[in-house]
Amino acid sequence: MGNVLAYCEFGDGALKASALSNLTFARSAAQHHGGVVIVLLVGAGAGAAAAQAAKYAQKVITVESGDLANYLAETHAPIVARLAGEHDATVVSATATSVGKDLLPRVAALLDAGMASDISKIDGPNVFTRPILAGNAYSQVEISTPIICVTPRQSEFTPAEELGSAGEITAADAGAIDAKGARIDRIESQKSDRPELTSAKVVVSGGRGMQSGENFKVLEGLADLLGAAMGASRAATDAGMVPADWQVGQTGKIVAPNLYFAVAISGAIQHLAGMKGSKTIVAINKDPEAPIFQVADYGYVGTWEKAVPELIEEIKKVKAAR
Ligand SMILES: Cc1cc2nc3c(=O)[nH]c(=O)nc-3n(C[C@H](O)[C@H](O)[C@H](O)COP(=O)(O)OP(=O)(O)OC[C@H]3O[C@@H](n4cnc5c(N)ncnc54)[C@H](O)[C@@H]3O)c2cc1C
Repeated sequence: MGNVLAYCEFGDGALKASALSNLTFARSAAQHHGGVVIVLLVGAGAGAAAAQAAKYAQKVITVESGDLANYLAETHAPIVARLAGEHDATVVSATATSVGKDLLPRVAALLDAGMASDISKIDGPNVFTRPILAGNAYSQVEISTPIICVTPRQSEFTPAEELGSAGEITAADAGAIDAKGARIDRIESQKSDRPELTSAKVVVSGGRGMQSGENFKVLEGLADLLGAAMGASRAATDAGMVPADWQVGQTGKIVAPNLYFAVAISGAIQHLAGMKGSKTIVAINKDPEAPIFQVADYGYVGTWEKAVPELIEEIKKVKAAR
């Protein structure tokens, strides 16, 4: 029997949408291990997010300190590892976001624990399914250590619902914090009113065929009309057309929205690895042989210069008629 310590990301006094997928995984793991889910909130604002987090789990632990103002794996990992021991956790989890993927291998090393990363399914107390070969095959991994570290994929675990009653909140001591020389000099953040890419219901992505960042404004017009998040292929982000955090794919973000637009994207295997779980895929590409059409539910063969403005006009007409 053991508990599940679920490291959850938060901001502005609430859990991030990605954390809710972690909690769905954590509840399932807790059933397999016969324990409870303990949400762990580390960093500035942890206390403020605790009340909302308590709606999702039996226990919430917060750790706040001036030295934890910004996330650093070097400072967070020892705290997670220590609290896992103190709270009898046999599973430690964090969503497979850039933070989760950075943090949990270090926690696993500190706990001498086996690690199952980027999992899509829990098959048993210590057995997990994870995609390999850019999502073209699945492997089942069995972890034999007493403590297991897991990063579940956000797109594969539906967001947890609130529980009927609120859990208990405790503040834990941060202990001695040693960043081991790592420090954050400056943070550049992109503020956007659009939904977060990994949890958006609609995503509009553009590829190299958009040719310039300026041309992406046309896609942004479509995205704003649909309340969508913006995404891109790696070719577009590497070329500096759009920010790197828009990248969808094997080495970018994994998305599974209800509706995914792939505009001027060829559909390379590494891009498909990040979006082929989308419920409906619409492809716009001037090359009828483009591989994206093999996964698309709806395809338009032609240029984006013609298709996207026409699409915008038609959507506006439908909206106006409502
Ligand atoms: C280890 C590794 C990891 C990778 N990770 C990722 C990843 O995470 N995400 C990712 O996206 N890629 C990734 N890649 C890169 C991937 O292999 C492709 O190079 C990349 O996805 C291609 O991007 P693209 O489709 O935008 O560009 P291209 O392949 O150049 O395709 C551009 C498309 O635009 C179409 N087009 C051109 N002009 C127009 C027009 N006017 N109207 C309509 N269509 C037009 C063309 O017909 C073409 O199909 C990775 C590669 C490697 C090796």
